[in-house]
Amino acid sequence: MHELSIVLNIIDIAEKEAKKADAASISAIELSIGKLSTIEPVAFDFAWKHGVKNSMLEHARRITNYIDGKGRCNKCSTEFLMEALYQPCPQCGDYFSEIIEGKELQIKSLRIEEKIET
Ligand SMILES: [Zn+2]
Repeated sequence: MHELSIVLNIIDIAEKEAKKADAASISAIELSIGKLSTIEPVAFDFAWKHGVKNSMLEHARRITNYIDGKGRCNKCSTEFLMEALYQPCPQCGDYFSEIIEGKELQIKSLRIEEKIET
C-alpha cells in the first residue's frame, strides 16, 4: 500500500512548515488530489487515520479536494474531461493526449495553532 508512504510524506512536509512557523499544532490541512493520480481514496483515508497518530496532524481537520482529470489531445488540441488514463479524444479518437490536470498531489493550505507565550 503506497498510500501510507504518501501520507507520511505529507505529514513530514506539514510538520516542517508548522515548526518553521513555531506552531504548537496543526488544526486543519487542505489537500488537492488529482483523480488521475495513483491514490485510491479509501486506502488513502485508511492510511491517513493510522499515519497521523502521534504527529502534529493527529487532531487536524482534513479537507480533501479531488481534482477532475483533464487532457489535451496531441492531434487536434481538444481539451476534455478524463476519467481514466488512456482515454481517447472525443473529437478525433486519438489516444495520445497530454494530461494537463488531475495528477497533482498538493498541500493547498495549513492552519496552525500558535504557541501561547507564557
Ligand atoms: Zn483529438
